[in-house]
Amino acid sequence: MIDAHETSFLRRAIGLAAEARAGGNPPFGSLLVGPGGTVLAEERNTTVTERDISLHPELKLAVWAGRELDASTAAATTMYTSCQPCGMCAGAIERSGLGRVVYALSTEQLRALTPPSAPPAVQLDGPHLLEEARVPIEGWPA
Ligand SMILES: [Zn+2]
Repeated sequence: MIDAHETSFLRRAIGLAAEARAGGNPPFGSLLVGPGGTVLAEERNTTVTERDISLHPELKLAVWAGRELDASTAAATTMYTSCQPCGMCAGAIERSGLGRVVYALSTEQLRALTPPSAPPAVQLDGPHLLEEARVPIEGWPA
């Protein structure tokens, strides 16, 4: 359960999703809240208007946090987002070290509300060239 304060942040994320849609983009919005309850940043999906498939609000906030916050501050933040982060964003959130994500719709609930769409299958082909590929990795990070 989330409290009334957190519910208001989640409602703001839903409002940002509505703003994204009104602006011609997919309906997703997110905000990042610091440990004291201060809104640090807000983002909307802009994948259509900026013609960039990576411009999900969660990814934009994760990148922002990675640039602007130290590790302990990032770990003390909470992202409120209108939908459960996709795989791309979940990976970025993990790398940015954010502490917690609170979402409104689950991926399953989103799928139930939208027409079925199957992303094209990508063929992954590897591993290859171990002896060559390991050279720039050995000793890293150091
Ligand atoms: Zn995403």
